[in-house]
Parts: sequence; C-alpha cells; structure tokens
Amino acid sequence: MNQSQLNQGLLDFLKACPTPFHAVKTMAKQLLSHGFVRLYEKDEWNLQPGQRYFVTRNDSSIIAFDYGQGEPLSSGVRMLGAHTDSPCLKVKPQPDINKQGFYQLGVEKYGGMLLNPWFDRDLSMAGRVTYVNTAGEVCNALIDFERAVATVPSLAIHLDRKANDGRTVNVQTDMPIVLSMQEADTPENFRQLLLTQLTEQGDAARQVLDYEIYCYDTQPPALIGLKHEFIASARLDNLLSCYVGMQALIDADGKVPALLICTDHEEVGSASVAGAQGTFLNAVLARFCNTNTQLSQVTAQSMMISVDNAHGIHPNFTDKHDNNHGPLINKGPVIKINANQRYASNSETSALFRHLCEQQDIPVQSFVVRSDMGCGSTIGPIAATETGVKTLDIGVPSFAMHSIREMAGADDPFYLYGALKAFCELQQLPESSCV
Ligand SMILES: [Zn+2]
Repeated sequence: MNQSQLNQGLLDFLKACPTPFHAVKTMAKQLLSHGFVRLYEKDEWNLQPGQRYFVTRNDSSIIAFDYGQGEPLSSGVRMLGAHTDSPCLKVKPQPDINKQGFYQLGVEKYGGMLLNPWFDRDLSMAGRVTYVNTAGEVCNALIDFERAVATVPSLAIHLDRKANDGRTVNVQTDMPIVLSMQEADTPENFRQLLLTQLTEQGDAARQVLDYEIYCYDTQPPALIGLKHEFIASARLDNLLSCYVGMQALIDADGKVPALLICTDHEEVGSASVAGAQGTFLNAVLARFCNTNTQLSQVTAQSMMISVDNAHGIHPNFTDKHDNNHGPLINKGPVIKINANQRYASNSETSALFRHLCEQQDIPVQSFVVRSDMGCGSTIGPIAATETGVKTLDIGVPSFAMHSIREMAGADDPFYLYGALKAFCELQQLPESSCV
C-alpha cells in the first residue's frame, strides 16, 4: 500500500459512504474481501487464533478484529477507534411541505454542523428505510438517490443587505430543502417517494413504515491544490479515520490481537445503542474471555488509539491556536491533549505514540486548545471510561470541520496509516506502573 493507493481508496470510500449505514456496509464488504468472517451478536462465537472477524450493530457501527496468533489474555488487544457519523441535515418523520407551488421537506440538524455552507449545494439523500414487503414481512434496506434531487437556495443579497454581517440561520424556517414544483392535484408524499426508490432498486416493498434519511452534497471528493496537496470532501470527520484505521488493521501482521471500532452517534454525544457510550465494545471484549477476571486482565494489558480529526492552524485565523500548539496540515498526526480530560491522552499513551512514530520516521505534532477557549471532545474519553482501557486521542489536522466540505492534507492519511499499522503490530506495551 503506497500513498497514492491509500488516497485513491480514501476518495472512493468517502464517495461510497454518504451515511453511517453506507460506511458500515462498505467496510463490511471490504473486510469480507480480506478474509474477515462475519459474526452476529445473537450467536455463540468460536474464536480461533489466526482468524479475523467483524460484527455490526444497528447497521451503523462496526467492530473488526484480528484475533492474533496467541491469546488476548497473554498480550491484551491493540485497539483503534473512530466514528461513522458526520453532522448533516436529517429529514423529519413527517417532512412534506407544500408552499408557493414548491415541494419541500422539513429537516433537522444532526450534530454541530456549520449551516452556511449547506446553501446552494446540489444535494442528494441516503439512509435506511424500514418497510413492509409484498409478502407482508418487515424489512430494512439502504437507499441512495445518488443524483442531486434537492437544494437550499440562498436569499439574494438584494433582499438581505446585512447577509455578510453576522447573518444568523434558522434551520426550521430557512432550510427546508426544495425538491420540485408541485402539481396541485397530485401532492408529493415522501414515503411514496421512498417506496418508488426502493422499487427502482429492486426491493419488493409495499409500504414504507419509517426511515433515517440524511442529505448530502453530490460533489465528489477530490485531491485539490496546485500540487494536489489537499483532500477536499464531505465527512472527512471522521470517515478518513475509519478508512485509514481499517486499512491499518487489514495490513497489520496479525501476530497480536488488534481491533477497530467505528461507532455511530459521536456527533450527538455517543450515548446510544450503537454509540461509543453503549455496550458494544465491552460486549465484544467479553467474548475474548471466560470470566470477568480475565476481562480485567485483558483490558489492563490493552490500549486504544481514538482517531478523530484535529484542527490544523488556519493561515487566516492563526490567533485561534496557542502559539506552540498549531498543528500544520501535511506534517503528520496530531496528539490531542486536554488537562480536563476532554481528550483521553495521558503522558504514558502519548509518549508511546511519539516513540512509535519516531521509530517509523513519521512526523508527529501536538494540540492543546487555547486556555481561554473551550475544547471539543471525541470518543476517546468515553471509550476509556466505559472499558477501563488506557487511551490516546489523535487525528490528522484538518480545516472546516463540520462544514459540508472539509479539507485535510494529502500526505497525512499515509502518515496516520503507518503509525496505526505499527501500533496494531506492537508486541508488548511498556510496563505500566512506576510507583
Ligand atoms: Zn469527529
């Protein structure tokens, strides 16, 4: 795997995954093609050394692992974590709006999104639909309209002269998406529209019951910049980390147990059936052990690297960073540290990563938020709290986080890949206690 192969794979992955459901489906497909065996939580598992497996929850979270040559009990597990969801507009349950001859859908905000970049984009819709099929059974299917079927037009500056001076956006009134002109005698109905789409993609659906449908930008991911030094795409936060983590796990030598968890709902706090604060990871780790004592022994020897994008220093807004902690794009993964545990990194886990990067000749940077600003967070502290596994928070530096189109460096995914692969192959973690 070289840098251009990894980046091309990343661009394809970003395009194929407009929603967490599609991310899990795409990852499952790729894992299957690399010899991973699918497991189901409802079954008994008979895990074998040298084998690789994956399991999904809610179709939107996934855990993949290599059981290693030995036993988790003797070495612990090298874990990588990331999240499958990204901020976006989500279609409401009863979304149909007819106004001034237009057919529109009501939407709500999913996560802490930057709203302004969503205007004047060519939007499509995708997600999961639950329906009754022609045999009367209730089924789930993924759906993707693929082409641009909607938009949110801006108000012209002539009608809002203050548009460039601190304009506020009201999602309820300003952002219902516009789909078409409406014929008065045949009003559109969103469930009917989904039914037609299901039928077109070959599902024998009779009635759409419910759905989770998200809007997304149809502009494909791209390498941009004069020397192709940047990656521009929706959902870089955090599908970049999901993809790179998956490649690292696939390509690792498989000698020690290694695991990747990619969970949904990080952007809304991770407290859900499929989220990092749920039971998913502990339930899988418990399958590696026969007793609770063994589980404690495994977690004590394990470590997690939680990977989620960081804020690179922006040339137009340099004062938003601490002078000594402004990570540069294309200068390597960033160790994220916060005194108040908004990140789970501690001196031991960050030192181990620094050492690992040094050995691999990979540049490494660090980020601490300005002391007069609030700090974001991610799945690291949550996973550490839920599992008791020591954790490190890192990520590639990026711009425009939570915009409809974000930006990262074209060199950083490969640096990240090298570091994560080396971590998955780490035979022994340093002795923990010095007291
Ligand atoms: Zn994130």
